[in-house]
Amino acid sequence: MRFDVLTLFPDTIRQLCDFSIIKRACNEKYIEINTVNPRDFSKDKHKKVDDTPYGGGAGMLLSCQPYLDALKSVEKFDNSRTIIMSPQGKTFNQQMAKEFSKSSQIIIICGHYEGFDERIIEKSEAEEISIGDFVLTGGEIPALCIIDSVTRLLNGVLGDDTSKENDSHYDGLLEHPHYTKPRNYEGLEVPEILLSGDHEKIKEWRRLEQFLVTRKKRPDLFEKFMNSELSKYDKKIIEKNLRLF
Ligand code: SAM
Repeated sequence: MRFDVLTLFPDTIRQLCDFSIIKRACNEKYIEINTVNPRDFSKDKHKKVDDTPYGGGAGMLLSCQPYLDALKSVEKFDNSRTIIMSPQGKTFNQQMAKEFSKSSQIIIICGHYEGFDERIIEKSEAEEISIGDFVLTGGEIPALCIIDSVTRLLNGVLGDDTSKENDSHYDGLLEHPHYTKPRNYEGLEVPEILLSGDHEKIKEWRRLEQFLVTRKKRPDLFEKFMNSELSKYDKKIIEKNLRLF
């Protein structure tokens, strides 16, 4: 998959390829990250990319010309999507990450300062995406969140492809608790079932824990899950443990 990121601060995006799992994904060509700096497209003699807002007010707005020319310069693949980072957009979540991971290319437009001239949003026809109801100084951190979360869903990127299916939010629930050595840490024991070697029982315990953890930490998600079409396996676990619900 290819990510083309329009940003005034390309180094903040490129550094994602310097560490850990995403570094391997870059090295092994699961993904390619290309940055495009709108400043390189500015027709202003001082390479300005922003200007004061009409009607007055604080801050500088990003101008149409450098951003829309930078966008035009990006070669579009089939099955590509263009998104613009904005606190006013649809809130990004794991379902969207899954959907995005089916694209061959994601073009990401990062804002800065006071944000975009509204006509950049209109002309680019990009989907406005937010990473949450708070305001950051720029779209680079949101872009990194999106690139990271989408990349780890690409087949082969994680050592074991099934691990992402157990992750929180994959199917609407949070993940079950995990434990590693030692077996007893300052009086806190690892649940006995995990030492039993009975894989079927462990699988059932983990699924039950997913229900209980989600109900406790995110009752909103649990309610949504319980109102959805439950699998036979999930129904069986719930029926067996009715006293816990
Ligand atoms: N004045 C804008 C508003 O109130 O809607 C906020 C501009 S913000 C300071 C500058 C840029 O950071 C935005 O254009 C956007 O690209 C990015 N940004 C800030 N918060 C964001 C969020 N929660 N999700 C996605 N992008 C965000």
